[in-house]
Amino acid sequence: MDRSTVTDNGLSASDVTTSTSPDNPTTPANGPVMTPEPELTDGFHLVIDALKLNDITTIYGVPGIPITDLGRLAQAAGMRVISFRHEQHAGNAAAIAGYLTKKPGICLTVSAPGFLNGLTALANATTNCFPMILISGSSEREIVDLQQGDYEEMDQLAIAKPLCKAAFRVLHAADIGIAVARAIRAAVSGRPGGVYLDLPAKLFSQVMEAEAGAKSLVKVIDAAPAQLPAPSAIARALDVLKSAKRPLIVLGKGAAYAQADEAIRTLVETSGIPYVPMSMAKGLLPDTHAQSAGAARSLVLKDADVVLLIGARLNWLLSHGKGKTWGAPGSKKFIQIDIEPKEMDSNVEIVAPVVGDIESCVEALLKGMGKDWAAPPAAWTDAITAKKEENLSKMAGKLRKNAAPMDFHGALGALRTVIKERPDAILVNEGANTLDLARGIIDMYQPRKRLDVGTWGIMGIGMGFAVAAAVETGKPVLAVEGDSAFGFSGMEVETICRYDLPVCIVVFNNNGIYRGTDTDPTGRDPATTVFVKDSRYDKMMEAFGGVGVNVTTPDELLRAVNTAMDSGKPTLINAVIDPQAGTESGNIGSLNPQSVVKKK
Ligand code: ADP
Ligand code: MG
Repeated sequence: MDRSTVTDNGLSASDVTTSTSPDNPTTPANGPVMTPEPELTDGFHLVIDALKLNDITTIYGVPGIPITDLGRLAQAAGMRVISFRHEQHAGNAAAIAGYLTKKPGICLTVSAPGFLNGLTALANATTNCFPMILISGSSEREIVDLQQGDYEEMDQLAIAKPLCKAAFRVLHAADIGIAVARAIRAAVSGRPGGVYLDLPAKLFSQVMEAEAGAKSLVKVIDAAPAQLPAPSAIARALDVLKSAKRPLIVLGKGAAYAQADEAIRTLVETSGIPYVPMSMAKGLLPDTHAQSAGAARSLVLKDADVVLLIGARLNWLLSHGKGKTWGAPGSKKFIQIDIEPKEMDSNVEIVAPVVGDIESCVEALLKGMGKDWAAPPAAWTDAITAKKEENLSKMAGKLRKNAAPMDFHGALGALRTVIKERPDAILVNEGANTLDLARGIIDMYQPRKRLDVGTWGIMGIGMGFAVAAAVETGKPVLAVEGDSAFGFSGMEVETICRYDLPVCIVVFNNNGIYRGTDTDPTGRDPATTVFVKDSRYDKMMEAFGGVGVNVTTPDELLRAVNTAMDSGKPTLINAVIDPQAGTESGNIGSLNPQSVVKKK
């Protein structure tokens, strides 16, 4: 199509086929009669109507060409439209909204660069099994495909494809309804993940009759159908579990996502089997539960003979199910519940694969267990309890330290108290030491209250997750951030202030990445891992009308967080941490390759 034939609303004359054309109305003998003009709709409205019809009421995004009006019109149509400063954070917000609600979170971006900024979040969502839909505007197909150098030219569909579950492009307004339906179903059914929807600029102003438009929309029925496990798979799993002398349950974030909280709790308690929660599964049962073996994690992974995985993958976070962590080779049998059949045997043999949705699988297991299921041998549970007590009392002393500057334990001891007293608050957590130590120290009491760096251990999720957590749940949010991690999304404090969200950010400021003590051996520049010394991140919050506080002791930290949580005002607390505290890469320092060459 030649651009010279494009009308004001972006349509070529041949695209416009409505009865407003002059040939259409009949002209009777007694003069012209106005035929009532049919009501029209366009691409903008069809996208909004399709989302609303499917109970999607919030959009996270960054406005710009060609989707600025889409955001405006969505807001006018009553949707919540949360505008960010950078697409990656809008995308992270959409992803975690999906995790929290089991409905796809929507991220809306402009073409090429905005799309690419959103893509990190889309890929991360897919990796973590969070349902989201990235909707990006794109440029003229005819020019992009001939590579003639259009405004923000990029073949976005091709680029998105390998990074998500499904990717669709819509060229006709009449197809918007079906495309949105496909996107929703692809995002939430089976293993959830990211979906990309490419909407070329021209689509938005394509016009069609409103009635036909309304008929073209699809309300998705049963978007994530139950997937029942085969009875034989359940019987096999129960046989293996029954034979166990030292059984263990591992709960992953898939279990938290499934919202089968009651069934999972009943399974754990009926079976009497000790369990360890993966990071984001913490709180599915309270971390203080008698059967929690979280504080004896190394012991139970090494010594268990049968392990029941529920919504947890045997990836690097579980040492791939083998090696030192898991004890002697061949000492384990794995049972795995997962909705994704290909997950089975991905790292080690799964002797009892149970493929289905977690709620159906757990309920089937419970039914098969009956009432007189024998509790695991006391020798096993007693050994775990003893180890837990030993580890917990070792930690207790460190948590009480009220020194200035603070070390991680002292500061986290204060935050542990905050969450204990406010169990319905949502904890967002990223960093290296700040992440690893907070995960171990801060007990969680309710499901889906801990949101963190997930499967990739990605930095930069902080403010996006915090915004969505506040928007989606209305609960107070405590974001515990390493100073480096915070920097990736720090500008979004303006977004938090603008929407006046109940978010309290605590920046663990130890002057650098991992720690703030490195130097450049040549003496020329700052070391690669250090930041400006004694920065005052709290001033950033003040710049936008939020509350900023600088604290140097755990007592001050506790008071400041409680004040923030009581007031619900956007707050940033700069928590001064000893630059000496912290280790390289936190718990995963061993993943750093080491140079073996000694330079003279
Ligand atoms: P963690 O990192 O906490 O161990 P993972 O993200 O590795 O958790 O694993 C989550 C697993 O849960 C994925 O393999 C995913 O397929 C699975 N999953 C997600 N939702 C469901 C569900 N509703 N039913 C069954 N399995 C699910
Ligand atoms: Mg740091």
